[in-house]
Amino acid sequence: MTVSPSLSVARNGRVLIVGATGFIGRFVAEASLAAGRPTYVLVRPGPLHPSKADTVKSFKHKGAIILHGLISDKTLMEKILREHEIETVISAVGGATILDQIALVEAIAAVGTVKRFLPSEFGHDVDRADPVEPGLTMYEEKRKVRRWVEKSGVAYTYICCNSIASWPYFDNTHPSEVLPPLDRFQIYGDGTVKAYFVDGTDIGKFTIKTVDDIRTINKNIHFRPPSNLYDINGLASLWEKKIGRTLPRITITENHLLALAAENRIPESIVASFTHDIFIKGCQVNFAVEGPRDVEVGTLYPGDSFRTLDECFNDFLLKLKDNLEPVHEENVSTKNAVVESRAVTPTCA
Ligand code: NDP
Repeated sequence: MTVSPSLSVARNGRVLIVGATGFIGRFVAEASLAAGRPTYVLVRPGPLHPSKADTVKSFKHKGAIILHGLISDKTLMEKILREHEIETVISAVGGATILDQIALVEAIAAVGTVKRFLPSEFGHDVDRADPVEPGLTMYEEKRKVRRWVEKSGVAYTYICCNSIASWPYFDNTHPSEVLPPLDRFQIYGDGTVKAYFVDGTDIGKFTIKTVDDIRTINKNIHFRPPSNLYDINGLASLWEKKIGRTLPRITITENHLLALAAENRIPESIVASFTHDIFIKGCQVNFAVEGPRDVEVGTLYPGDSFRTLDECFNDFLLKLKDNLEPVHEENVSTKNAVVESRAVTPTCA
């Protein structure tokens, strides 16, 4: 009998997801439930924003076991991990609470039965990318968590999924909020630096695939779907094709991005520093995935396709139609059309 290389020893498959009510964590929890894994979701105690309460209800309906607590409570986390015999812990906490994961790592190490930990990464390879401040501070925190995990001896996987498929506004607070523009495009520099844009459902799907794959132990997993590699000029042209008209293009210079970053307004300046790193410095494409700890996710699962950016843009168009129909000229000045309002935290890739 041949054993698939992605299968490891017999396991109960129990996954604990922290941050599942958040933007990225929701995709991961949905994928875990869709894959039929026993899924435990840790929810922060206290009243929830109504949209988050609905999310939790929907997880429960799909079979998730809801637990309450904070990852900074090491004793509680140890109890949860032991009582529920958790084998995999995935954290998707936001940018403001990255360091809370240190207590979680300590709990995982103390329990000794967790077979894999995925810390809250879901962006760039933070050991390689080097954004200006204040983005750098968040990366330093993510690096600190990495070093803590490595020192603990717990097996880990770092998900470097690059950008989520959304419009990369440089002056935005969170990528979950907005649809592509209808008034004008803001082009960063000469608009020719490329980046990868990955649909949220694929971030969830491929993250879950890695969790008990022995090939992903102690590795950086890079998401680089060739169909989703675009520069901002290409992104603008794709959107123009969808909406059936052309929009003016305004250049946002490197100095403009650096000046906004230097203002140190959180979260806007963090987003500006990442925008600079991605679209001016090319942090997603300026290295090859070839180190001993680097794996490209497409090489692991060649039979699984990614949703193309073209398909994602069709979704945006549908949402715009739902929200703004009919799209008259008076609506075209709407900047950063909002899909739904939700709590915003200072975070990004
Ligand atoms: P969100 O702020 O949307 O969600 C954070 C989640 O973590 C929430 O569910 C929150 O609970 C929970 N949480 C926070 N602190 C604790 C704690 N101490 N104990 C238990 N739960 C906690 O985060 P994002 O989804 O925006 O970010 C997640 C990760 O993804 C980050 O590493 C971020 O950098 C990255 N990211 C990447 C993007 C990309 O384009 N590649 C885009 C956006 C994020 P509650 O609901 O109570 O607030």
